[in-house]
Amino acid sequence: MLDRALGGAIDCGHPWRHLCVAAALAVALTARGAGAVPLSLENPAAGVYVHYGQQALSGADNRGDIANLGFVVGARCVAVLDTGGSAAVGRALRAAIHSVTPLPICYVINTHGHPDHVLGNAAFQGEATEFVGHVRLDEALRRRGAFYLRGAQRELGMADAGSEIVGPTRLVATVDRLDLGARVLVVRAWPPAHTDQDLTVQDEKSGTLWLGDLVFVGHLPVVDGSLRGFLAAMEELKSLAPKLAVPGHGRITSWPQALAPQEEYLRHLLVEVRAAIAEKKTLAQTVESTRLDHPDAWLLGDAFHARNVTAAYAELEWEQ
Ligand SMILES: [Zn+2]
Repeated sequence: MLDRALGGAIDCGHPWRHLCVAAALAVALTARGAGAVPLSLENPAAGVYVHYGQQALSGADNRGDIANLGFVVGARCVAVLDTGGSAAVGRALRAAIHSVTPLPICYVINTHGHPDHVLGNAAFQGEATEFVGHVRLDEALRRRGAFYLRGAQRELGMADAGSEIVGPTRLVATVDRLDLGARVLVVRAWPPAHTDQDLTVQDEKSGTLWLGDLVFVGHLPVVDGSLRGFLAAMEELKSLAPKLAVPGHGRITSWPQALAPQEEYLRHLLVEVRAAIAEKKTLAQTVESTRLDHPDAWLLGDAFHARNVTAAYAELEWEQ
C-alpha cells in the first residue's frame, strides 16, 4: 500500500494546473559531510519552491526527509518553511536555496516543533537568520528536544550527524508580517490543534498558504494538541481560498475538498471516543474498540491511530 501511495504522491495530474506546469526540478546537490543527497524541488509560482517529503516514518533510508519543506524568495531575502528531520536534510535544503538565489536567508519559519519539521534548523545557523516560531514553540522544544534528538539518533544513525535543537528567536503570539522585500509573509499562530504551537504562513504575492500539519493528506493525521481545536481550525481553514496550499504531509490537489478525509477521520475519532467515555470504558478498552474506519485510505495508520485515540481520551475524559 505504501509503495502504491508513494508512486501516487509524485503524480502531478490534478486540476491545479499551475502545479503541473511547474516541472519538478531535480536539484542534485553536494552537501557538506554525510548528507550529500539530491533534493527534489517544485516551483509552482514565481519565487515559491516546495519540496514534498516522503510519506513514511523517519529512517536511515530517507534521512528524516518525511515532511514537506520549502522556501519563498523576495527581493531582499529568503524565508524557509520548515527544515526537515535531520541536519542532512537541512543542509540539502540550504544548498537548494543557494542554487536558486544568492540572496541571504533572513527567516527560518517552523510551522511547529515536531522533529521532522525542525531538526534541519541546525543547517541554517551562522547567517543573520531569525528563527520564527509560535510563542509556545520554545517551551515545547525545551520539553521534548532531548527526546527528539535521541529518537533521531536511533532512527537515522549516521544520517543524523549534526542535528541539534535550534529554538525560535522571534516568537509569534497572534499574527506577524515578515517582509522579504516586495513580498510579505503573514504568519499566524493558532490555538492548540495538531500541536499547541501551530503556525500557518500566507505568501500574499502568490496566494500560497503553508499549512504545516494542520492538514495531512495521505498520512494519517496526528493529534498532539487538541482534537476539538483541530476540528475548529479546519472549520476556519475551509473558509479560506488559497491559490495554492501546501500541507505538512502529502499533496493538496483541490481546495477545500482535500481537507474532507482528515475532517471525517477527526470527527469519527471525536464521536467514538466520547461514546466510549460515556460507556465508562477504560483507556485500554477504548483503544481496543476504536478502530480506524477506513484503514486502506490512510498511510501510517498503524503508527498513529492508537496514539490518537489515547490523546483524544486524555482530552475528552474531563469535558463533562
Ligand atoms: Zn507534526
